[in-house]
Amino acid sequence: MTTQTTAPSPVCIYCEGPGPFTDEHVISAGLGADDDRYLLVDMVCKRCNTDVLGKLELEVLRCSPIAIGRAFMQPHGRDRGKRTAAPGIQARRKQMASTSGYPHEVDFGRHAQPIVLPQLKITGEKTYDSAAAGPDELRSFLMSLSTLLQGTQVTCIRKRGPEHELRYETITMLRSDKTFTQAAESSFEATPPRAGLWLERYDATDAAGQTPAATIFQNLNKGIVLKTSSATVEDALNFLAHAVEQFSFDTQETVDTEGPIISVEMTVTVGAMERVIAKIGINLLAYYLGRDYVTDPGLQQVKDSILTGTPRLSADIIEDASIQSILDAAPENHHVFCLSKASQPGERASITVIAKLYGAAQSLVLATDVPEPHLPLPVFFLVDYLNHKVKQWSLHDYSEHLVKTVMNEAQARYGSTE
Ligand SMILES: [Zn+2]
Repeated sequence: MTTQTTAPSPVCIYCEGPGPFTDEHVISAGLGADDDRYLLVDMVCKRCNTDVLGKLELEVLRCSPIAIGRAFMQPHGRDRGKRTAAPGIQARRKQMASTSGYPHEVDFGRHAQPIVLPQLKITGEKTYDSAAAGPDELRSFLMSLSTLLQGTQVTCIRKRGPEHELRYETITMLRSDKTFTQAAESSFEATPPRAGLWLERYDATDAAGQTPAATIFQNLNKGIVLKTSSATVEDALNFLAHAVEQFSFDTQETVDTEGPIISVEMTVTVGAMERVIAKIGINLLAYYLGRDYVTDPGLQQVKDSILTGTPRLSADIIEDASIQSILDAAPENHHVFCLSKASQPGERASITVIAKLYGAAQSLVLATDVPEPHLPLPVFFLVDYLNHKVKQWSLHDYSEHLVKTVMNEAQARYGSTE
């Protein structure tokens, strides 16, 4: 009989499972931190990374107020070479107030510039409205619409179920004698058909203006969407097919909208933002203090909350003016993350993460009773989200920067009068 000694095989720092492992960005890549020097390797299992943390992060990046911050301040999402695009905003409602009282469907371009999508709205029994960013966009939209509505059938697709387990309901509308009727039963698929008309409903809470009976518009990906409120899909299609046939460009006028009123309504899972901040906190601890530190039982509860959402995590908006001014002194276009501690008797400590993303700063307690860290805290991590770089600063580095900033300001203000 022989005995072998092998190094203990690594376990996931979140679920303690055996792997396989995938590389995890210490700070979310989508926040502009896809800096390959800041990766956790062999620390987070594929299941936690892909099935839980990745999905959570995506939701926060696309559907929370963070999405608006990203769109305004970060011209590029994750660096993917040619595929790099402006970060998108996923919202239940993206509308702009219009002079007719019926709000326009809009989306956002670079730096969150609103773009009026080409659209037709049914505003009465025999009336409709049109809108677009310009005459060319309207013309090309009406061409696509004409092709779509003058065929003998239209495949309609409706998203069903929550965002993370979407199903696609496919409904076929047949057209004969210029009238659409629904053919047979609908079917459900895991992936959408390649082409079709997307169906959506106006939300009962839409209150930005009068709600049209139905609106048909083309989104930024060129998909055509029919959004209904009081009209049935059949009635809307019948009306719109007729409207497209008769459409006259002579009656169109160009209106410049200055300072448009935009309304965006988002749905984000309660606590998702806090879970993402806590996850970044744990990742930073693992990166800075090592695997052994983050496997301490004192961090178990926060990890359970990150993975499952319970118990609920709560973050506090930082209102303390002195902490705020320290965070505000960070270089421009940087997120700031800070790990800090409060020492307790018996070589114990509590650990807090502070996150300042696109402006607002929040703090979240990661643990209240863990071993005193062996490396100095606070430690700062700054994310240059325009250049996709992360840097680590000690309190000393940060103070030096702070003093320099204050001195430069003083010089700019008083220096020239000497
Ligand atoms: Zn895991």
